[in-house]
Amino acid sequence: MEKINIFWFRRDLRLEDHQGLRAAMASGRKVLPIFIFDLSILERLDDQYDRRVDYIYQALQFIHAQLKMFHSGIRVYHSHPVDAFEQLTAEFSIHTVYCTNDYEPKALQRDSQIRQLLAAKQIGFVSVKDQVMFEQDEIMKPDGTPYTVFTPYATKWREKLSRTADYSKCPHAPAQNSWFTFQADDLISLHTLGFKKTDVQFSPPQLPINFIQHYHQKHNFPALDSTTHLGIALRFGTISIRECVQAALNRSDAWLNELIWREFFMQILYHFPHVVNHCFKPSYEVIAWRNDEKEFKAWCEGKTGYPLVDAGMHQLNETGFMHNRVRLVTASFLCKHLLIDWRWGEAYFAARLLDYELASNNGNWQWAAGCGCDAAPYFRIFNPDLQQKKFDKNLEYVKRWNPDFQDVFNLPPIVDHVTARKRALAVYSKALR
Ligand SMILES: Cc1cc2nc3c(=O)[nH]c(=O)nc-3n(C[C@H](O)[C@H](O)[C@H](O)COP(=O)(O)OP(=O)(O)OC[C@H]3O[C@@H](n4cnc5c(N)ncnc54)[C@H](O)[C@@H]3O)c2cc1C
Repeated sequence: MEKINIFWFRRDLRLEDHQGLRAAMASGRKVLPIFIFDLSILERLDDQYDRRVDYIYQALQFIHAQLKMFHSGIRVYHSHPVDAFEQLTAEFSIHTVYCTNDYEPKALQRDSQIRQLLAAKQIGFVSVKDQVMFEQDEIMKPDGTPYTVFTPYATKWREKLSRTADYSKCPHAPAQNSWFTFQADDLISLHTLGFKKTDVQFSPPQLPINFIQHYHQKHNFPALDSTTHLGIALRFGTISIRECVQAALNRSDAWLNELIWREFFMQILYHFPHVVNHCFKPSYEVIAWRNDEKEFKAWCEGKTGYPLVDAGMHQLNETGFMHNRVRLVTASFLCKHLLIDWRWGEAYFAARLLDYELASNNGNWQWAAGCGCDAAPYFRIFNPDLQQKKFDKNLEYVKRWNPDFQDVFNLPPIVDHVTARKRALAVYSKALR
């Protein structure tokens, strides 16, 4: 039987500008592409209408249709990865399994398990960098330790980029004769996976150059909705980070900075995996959170009486997206004004954000709570009304997303800003003394 290579798609769901596919094809062996709907991940999702699953599904359908033109297709499994690989190794003679690096602790564990399983069968496992420009130990302080402060990390990142010759796009999509050919059926249905069709419409992401060019002037004003909404595409790799960085260079330093924040938090998670469940700064573990469930519910439902906070929560609940400025205000409000553990808010966002990404969500929540690396000092507490006056002064965003908002009579605030601010300062300073 002819030996083939497998390419295992995970968070890199595209055919073009793909370092993993390039590596798999370079060996000259035919490549069979696969995707595994990992039961251990799907079982944790409790909404049948999860838009992320639908997005992945549609991205796979798109890849499948492209591959069918080459008389190939993507084999989709609905199982635990170990079981999928047992099945694959029984069916095919495999030389090497290729994939791209994933830095989340659970993914690292999974990959090490699969690497061992394959090694026992004399099959190679090759994982390459694709979803970031710089990974793992590539950007380190002169003393060899990881950066924990953004600005020097970003400076080093930019320096390294300027010295890196080969970061631009990979050659075009793999050639037709590189794929393992077989009679491809339709994909397993979304229904069989236990999920339902949602309002998400996948189309191959385009770089909104106009938004990128004007990013620095407009991105802080939520009513303008002038950020790129590429978060989900970057999360699932339907767009290449190299293409994004190319677009940012010479067009928008501010937008490039956002892409660097993304990598900053990824390397924090990689080097400090304890952040998944714990404060980056251990001293913050003793904060006496109030964790009032009724207040948490009011926050989740957008009923705090603070117009910007409530509008943001409505936008999230209805669309799976929330503007970054409003994410900052709602997160700070939960941790500081209501003194609710940042992990509650993090989990709520994780369940709903279309662009949910562990490293960025965790890093930003810890930033808002003051317990993260390079976080806002705890005594800087956003005033949600001032934030609204500054960034949504005509109440356009508030009126668009908050159906309960009235110009005159509104829900009374669940906490008074001045009182809540004093309380937060007292609780934080007591914990940190
Ligand atoms: C409490 C909180 C939770 C967040 N959770 C997530 C999350 O789960 N996933 C996520 O991708 N971003 C998260 N962010 C960061 C940011 O809000 C989103 O990346 C951004 O709003 C997505 O919109 P966009 O795609 O239009 O981004 P743009 O403004 O167009 O930026 C382009 C890309 O840069 C990256 N980026 C931008 N800002 C940040 C940032 N502060 N940190 C890390 N990466 C950034 C994202 O990949 C984003 O898609 C969170 C921010 C806060 C304050």
